[in-house]
Amino acid sequence: MVIKPKVRGFICTNSHPVGCAASVAEQIDYIRSQGELGEGPKNVLVIGCSTGYGLASRITSAFGYGAKTLGVCFEKAPTERKTATAGWYNTAAFHQQAEKNDLYAKTINGDAFSDEIKEEVIAQIKQDLGEIDLVIYSLASPRRTDPVTGETYRSTLKPVGQAYTTKTYDTDKDKVHDVTLEPATDKEIADTIKVMGGEDWERWLDALAEAGVLAEECKTTAYTYIGKELTWPIYGQATIGKAKEDLDRAAAAIIHKHSDLRVDAHVSSLKALVTQASSAIPVMPLYISLIYKVMKEEGTHEGCIEQILGLYHTCLYGDEPTLDDMNRYRMDGKETNEATQAKIKALWDQVTQENFHELSDYAGYNYEFLKLFGFGLEGVDYDADVDPMVSW
Ligand code: NAD
Repeated sequence: MVIKPKVRGFICTNSHPVGCAASVAEQIDYIRSQGELGEGPKNVLVIGCSTGYGLASRITSAFGYGAKTLGVCFEKAPTERKTATAGWYNTAAFHQQAEKNDLYAKTINGDAFSDEIKEEVIAQIKQDLGEIDLVIYSLASPRRTDPVTGETYRSTLKPVGQAYTTKTYDTDKDKVHDVTLEPATDKEIADTIKVMGGEDWERWLDALAEAGVLAEECKTTAYTYIGKELTWPIYGQATIGKAKEDLDRAAAAIIHKHSDLRVDAHVSSLKALVTQASSAIPVMPLYISLIYKVMKEEGTHEGCIEQILGLYHTCLYGDEPTLDDMNRYRMDGKETNEATQAKIKALWDQVTQENFHELSDYAGYNYEFLKLFGFGLEGVDYDADVDPMVSW
């Protein structure tokens, strides 16, 4: 089949297997070009391993530190008539490269929130690895079924307290316009915390510890976005921010509960980037198009792989981690410092439908967006007939 992008709203409904493989290879090449990285993880569990920050974590663990990686993701397989999701093809490409390089890699595709998948993962660890010394928690999901009650919760992306009117960019219609977001109800806030808060991260660590598959001094981190004034009303101080605050509670609870194993748990704050999760958040495409412009001009622009390599090198396995007063690792300083934020704010105040393409790095945003689905990569023949039935 010849595969061209089918963009619907903030998502692309198909993906390109050869393009996804090229994009995974690009990240692997970047990591391998860094040379010897020193002491790092040995047996890594990446929950949310197939796209975005989780995929970058898996690539850094395996190709940077030679670690064995066990991944969990929730991706759709291909059929003869429909492509798989991008995360499926990324995972297949990762496996192919790992095999070529004699690196252990197994992936379990299923609902990470469920007890069944936790049990499957534990059985796999017992069979192949013995124990895990790094657990990366990188899930982004709109819903979660609580395995204890069977109830399904949905997350919402709404302000807290009062309505918020702001500029936004509609990627599908190429339009900058005002949007008013109504405040969340108490139930919507509580449900978002249920989905994107720390409960499931804690349950993973509890299950792994109880099964005896956590190494002493095992490290674990869950990813967050904190941002600044421009994004606080829709992110940091909104429903999703409330859920992310719950990660701080969970980190402290994990350290306390598993003190016998001296488990080291931190939330890591990363910069805003184009991923499938962030393109779904109102305001973020506009904000990201502007920060790409400013940070590329400053020479401080980074993608997922650069951010994660920095996190491993300076925080998780480095001597001088940047920690904030909540014990979080901070990798977002190049975005959130006052000088950079002032430049972004100046552009934000001026941006309109007419000058959007000129003031922002829309081209960069769009390139990265399509690349998430394996489109627009150099050296890939998009007119070629390709087989969607790729597996691992
Ligand atoms: P993403 O959409 O690229 O990745 C999400 C991953 O979660 C995928 O591997 C997907 O398969 C997996 N997943 C989703 N639901 C699942 C389920 N039920 N069971 C198993 N796997 C499931 O998202 P991302 O942007 O890389 O986000 C990862 C984390 O990083 C999130 O916690 C997010 O808040 C955080 N973060 C993102 C940004 C950003 O700008 N993108 C910035 C800072 C922090």
